[in-house]
Amino acid sequence: MRLAYQYRLRPTKQQIGTFENWLELCRRQYNYRLAERFNWWEQNRCDVDKCSLISCSIAPLKDKPGYYSQKRDLTNTKTLFPDYKDIPSHTLQDVIARVEKTFDRWLKGDSNGKKSGRPRFKGKGRYRSLAFPDPIKPEQVHGKFIQLPKIGKVKMILHRPIPDGFKIKTATITCKADGWYISLSLQDVTVPSLKTDVIPAPDNTVGIDMGLKSFLVTSDNQTIEIPQYYRKAEKRCSRLQRQLSRRKKGSNRRQKSIKRVAKTHLKVANQRKDFHYKTAIWLLNHSKVIAHENLNIKGLAKSMLAKSVTDAGWGQFLQILNTKAASAGCLVVAVNPNGTSQECSECGATVPKTLAHRWHSCQCGASYDRDHNAARNIKHRAAGHPVLQSSVNVRRVAGSR
Ligand SMILES: [Zn+2]
Repeated sequence: MRLAYQYRLRPTKQQIGTFENWLELCRRQYNYRLAERFNWWEQNRCDVDKCSLISCSIAPLKDKPGYYSQKRDLTNTKTLFPDYKDIPSHTLQDVIARVEKTFDRWLKGDSNGKKSGRPRFKGKGRYRSLAFPDPIKPEQVHGKFIQLPKIGKVKMILHRPIPDGFKIKTATITCKADGWYISLSLQDVTVPSLKTDVIPAPDNTVGIDMGLKSFLVTSDNQTIEIPQYYRKAEKRCSRLQRQLSRRKKGSNRRQKSIKRVAKTHLKVANQRKDFHYKTAIWLLNHSKVIAHENLNIKGLAKSMLAKSVTDAGWGQFLQILNTKAASAGCLVVAVNPNGTSQECSECGATVPKTLAHRWHSCQCGASYDRDHNAARNIKHRAAGHPVLQSSVNVRRVAGSR
């Protein structure tokens, strides 16, 4: 079983200086290695449908920069720029790994074949985390301190203990708007990843319809609203943003303003995450199987509803729900979203509605709130309809690993 715990760091001024220096060096290294790959790619690619006179270079083929060749080349970097010798070598190698990852995501796509955009060069202050890929021994964490390579003891606020039996596999230091953090990736090999043998059935399944009006509605007609503090914090954000735009470039007051805006954004993000965790735990206490619509969040976020969609953060919520379900032995299923709001959850007839129609009433006598009806349909698609023998149309998500 693998867990990630995050703790706040309280580095000394000198240590902060070192971390900032390392981040800047890693940022330059990242950009340099990315450029190396772009250059090779520009010079050596050849489109199938184009004349090779245009797209091929006349220069002889150079060796393709890859993960291993770039890693080997780090020794040259270290002789040319001795500052790089101060950085732990595995931290520096992780920079190459990141370049490799973004480049592959762009050209080949991830494990699902989904391609990302062209990698971007990182501007000043855009490289914000340092990885320490080596396992940290238990004796390296004592009391208020954690021992890290090449920097020594760094003060850490251990607000909760590292669980017994877990080993620290990797550590990552991140610079956030309100200070420095360390995330520890913990692993206990003796605890196997839970496998759930829950089968969706009408009495253990709850369907959730994620809407824009309220955060979600369950098939038992319970509604969870989007907390109001978002709206309040949002107002504060836009006020600070306006204030920032009035500040003179390069001034001290502008620097302060930038910090204030970043802190407010971080606070909103933290509040949202907290709300997502609480909602997920509430749902999992409620029932063993949770069915939701298989939404194309990226597609939705590009459409008119963009702001509300990204604001509600459904993607993050579903991710949290999945990990929490996996450790609780519960199951999360995604069902086909087509027509969940149009279908009658009693008799299966299609009752056309526009977005403005908030109530579902069918000639069979069914009468539900629009979202409640949709949630019931989602439940039925996962667990089967009590009356109609509708085909169960699901994709197992959690617990199938
Ligand atoms: Zn009906």
